[in-house]
Formats: sequence, C-alpha cells, structure tokens
Amino acid sequence: MSVSGEPSFRESVDLMFKRATALMDLGPGLEEKIRVCNSTYTVRFGVRLRGKIETFVGYRSVHSEHMEPVKGGIRYSLGVNQDEVEALAALMTYKCALVETPFGGSKGGLCIDPRKWDEHELEQITRRFAYELIKRDLINPAQNVPAPDMGTGEREMAWIADQYARMNTTDINAKACVTGKPPHAGGIQGRVEATGRGVQYALREFFRYPEDAAKAGLSGDLDGKRVVVQGLGNVGYHAAKFISEEDGAKIIAVIERDGAIVNDAGLDIEDLRQWMNRHDGLIAAYPHGTHLADGAAALELACDILIPAAMEGVIHLGNAANIKAPLIIEAANGPITFGADEILRKKGCVIIPDMYANAGGVTVSYFEWVKNLSHIRFGRMQRRAEEGRSRLLVEELERLSSAQNLGWQLTPDFKKKFLQGSDELALVRSGLDDTMRTAYQAMREIWHGRADVNDLRVAAYIVSISRVAKTYQSKGL
Ligand code: NAD
Repeated sequence: MSVSGEPSFRESVDLMFKRATALMDLGPGLEEKIRVCNSTYTVRFGVRLRGKIETFVGYRSVHSEHMEPVKGGIRYSLGVNQDEVEALAALMTYKCALVETPFGGSKGGLCIDPRKWDEHELEQITRRFAYELIKRDLINPAQNVPAPDMGTGEREMAWIADQYARMNTTDINAKACVTGKPPHAGGIQGRVEATGRGVQYALREFFRYPEDAAKAGLSGDLDGKRVVVQGLGNVGYHAAKFISEEDGAKIIAVIERDGAIVNDAGLDIEDLRQWMNRHDGLIAAYPHGTHLADGAAALELACDILIPAAMEGVIHLGNAANIKAPLIIEAANGPITFGADEILRKKGCVIIPDMYANAGGVTVSYFEWVKNLSHIRFGRMQRRAEEGRSRLLVEELERLSSAQNLGWQLTPDFKKKFLQGSDELALVRSGLDDTMRTAYQAMREIWHGRADVNDLRVAAYIVSISRVAKTYQSKGL
C-alpha cells in the first residue's frame, strides 16, 4: 500500500516513538529497552484439508512484558508478516499504558485468506494454531491473552478458549485465556461493538473542547459533520453506525475492498452493512449511492472527519498531500505512515492517534478478563439493590407531593430511566466512556501544556512511554 521509499510499518512505529523520546529524559538504555520487541515466535504447521496437507505460517510477538499478561489481537490476513505483527505488538504496549489496562503488549497473526476456507476448515486451522501457541504459554490467562483483530471475531475466540480448556482441564481461570468471546462462551456484553464505540466516545470527548476542535478548524459537536469511513468491518461499521444514528454525523462515503460508495446526503450504515452481508461483503452494486471503482480516491474527498478503519499504510507519501479532511481519527492501527503524518501535520490536520482511538477494544477486553477471573457477571450483585434505592426515593417524592398537595408529577420517561439499575452492558459502556475520557485528558494535558508538543500522537506516546518507564524503574531496571 505504501509507495517506495517509506519505512516499513514497524519502522514507522519506531520513528513515531523516537519523535516522542527525543522530548523526554529517559535514563540511558531505557529508551532502547522499551522500544524493542522482546520476542517473536514463528510457527509453521500443517493441517490436512481437502485431501492434502496445507502448511500455514503464524506469529505471536511479545513486545513488552513490563506487565503480565501481555495482550493483543490475532489477525487473519494474507498480508500478515513478522514486521507487521511486531509493529502491532508495540502499539499494544503503548495503547495499554495509555488507557491504563494492566497489560504488556503482544500481537499474533496467521497468513491466511479466511474467505478461502469454510467454517469447519477454519475451526481446524484455528485450533491447530491455538494448540501451537498454548503449549508454549503464548496463550495463557496469566501470561498472554489474545483477542480478535482483522479477519477474526467471536467465533475464532470461542474455538481458542475451548482448545485451551481441553489442554488445561483443571485451570479454573481457563476462560480468561482469550477475550472477545461470545457472551454464551464467557464473553462480555458490548465487546463486539467496543472498538467502534470507543471511536465514538473519543470523538465526543474531542468535541467537548471547543479549542481542540478549533485546531482542526471545526466547531460544535458531531451533529451534521461530514464523515468518510474506510472499512466497514467490525470497527468501521460500529463507529459509523453509532456516530450517524446517535450523534447526527453524516457518512458521505464508505470505502471497501471493491471501491467506494458515495452519497452526499448521507448513507444508511445499517442498510449498507446488511447489503454487504447479502452480497459476499461487496458494496459495488449498492443502489443508494454512486460507486467509485478507485476506492482509495475517496480518502481525498472533502469532508470534516476521515475515519480510516481498515488497515495500515493507507495514507502515505503518495496521497497525504491530497487529503482534505481537517480531522482524522485512526480507527485502524497504523493507517498513516510516518512520512504522511508529517505532511498532514504541516497542513494543520489534527490526527487522533490509533493507540488512543481504537483502544476501546482492549479496554472492554480488560473488563472481560476481569469478569472471567472473578467468575461473576458485572452488575449481578448490585443491580437490584440500586433499583430498590431509586424506587425508595421516587416513592418518597411522590408521597411528599401528594401529602403537601404539590401536584408534582415525575415524567414516565424519567421514572423508567431512574428506576433502571445498571446491567452489564450499561456498566461496560460507562467504564469504556470513562476510560476514553480520562485517556484523552491525559493526552491533551501534554498537548496543551508543553510548548514542544504540537500534536496528539507525540502527546499519547509521551504519556504511555512515561508510564511504561515508571514500571521498569520500579522494578529496579
Ligand atoms: P475487519 O476484518 O472486521 O474489517 C476490516 C474491513 O476493512 C473489512 O470490511 C474489509 O473488507 C475492509 N478492507 C480491507 N482492506 C481494505 C482496503 N484496502 N480498502 C478498504 N477496505 C478494506 O477488521 P477490524 O477488526 O474492523 O479491524 C480493522 C482495523 O482496526 C485493523 O487495523 C485492526 O488492527 C484495528 N483494530 C481492531 C480492533 C478490534 O477490536 N477488532 C481493535 C483495535 C484495532
């Protein structure tokens, strides 16, 4: 995707890291210790499929074990390679530190086109891959906990959890070996939507500060903002759906593998996604918009917000100068190369960086891991007690009103909402919202508070690296 002369994805992450550490005073050697990837395990395994043995190549990379378990998704894509997995593992370290989830960074990948195999075959492949990682403790509730990423989802995570349980029959915490499982298999409500939901919360928080929005030449909130989204997969679909249905944003273009669909009046994201589900994931023939065969060209459309939510390296030296969006939120990991980042910053574009923007996934994964370790669903103990206390208050208000002939009436809508105790989904969303707000505030404190910091990415790195450095220092390293 990147034009020649650009650093690789991992080098790009390293360069961004170094841009931040140049402004920090880390002790000698510590910068190098934090930056390098601790280990990458490559596995080649065979699975008998369709009458012959197919060999697959997979990776699990551990970037930093300053906290354990280490955490990071497993990606299924033909583009998976060691450089990519190591870049993504590094981003996980910084992401976890930024949103204060107590994990080190890791990432995994399998070189595979998941669409080439049927469900049963994918299960065989996934179980075999998991077996190879489990027996080396590269999947383990206390040491290394994967999650979904591009090309994987709840189904694959459920297979991995089951494989671990079969190989560790007496591990009472077996379910915590992987997150992103379906709720019936030990998952948590709100995990599937979490990364997209986090993008929504990040944007809401950004627009809460008029001076931040003004840096991108924007004002107001998300209502009426014109948005271009690349990738209508897990992250892009949820982000686009929530900001259009709940915040009034207008999605004027969606870019997918087979081109872009453009509609200036705004696309109905749910309708488009249903169409994709019925048409092998294709959007080209979608009737409610104009199809552009060159999807990447739609990244250059005039809009208020650009949400790259597909893959890395899509905004590069070859197209950065043509990008018109004044605000880009990196829902995908690494969508902007190091060189492109520089061009965009010089143009005054505000970039909400990946390590923050898509941290909703790992945040809710953390909640799921805690739920698995505590063996109880969130809200089970307190929900009805909370409702009981609210009911007491409502009844007392109504009693006082009638005793004093005040004629006060609580509106039925208020009563319904007030009397409803928080279930698991409400608690997950509340925890995610709090996390996204707190992390944004930590970044913006550096962004606004230091004369030598002019962008959110460097601010995010400074917050994260300082936290990782403190952990190392307290370990006596
Ligand atoms: P996904 O596989 O569910 O969706 C990716 C979408 O992008 C698909 O619809 C695919 O067709 C589309 N796509 C692929 N190549 C494209 C291209 N060249 N142009 C346009 N569209 C293209 O993956 P996902 O889980 O949504 O992940 C997307 C990005 O978000 C990745 O960078 C991933 O690392 C990152 N991410 C995902 C999560 C998560 O919880 N799933 C968490 C954090 C970060």
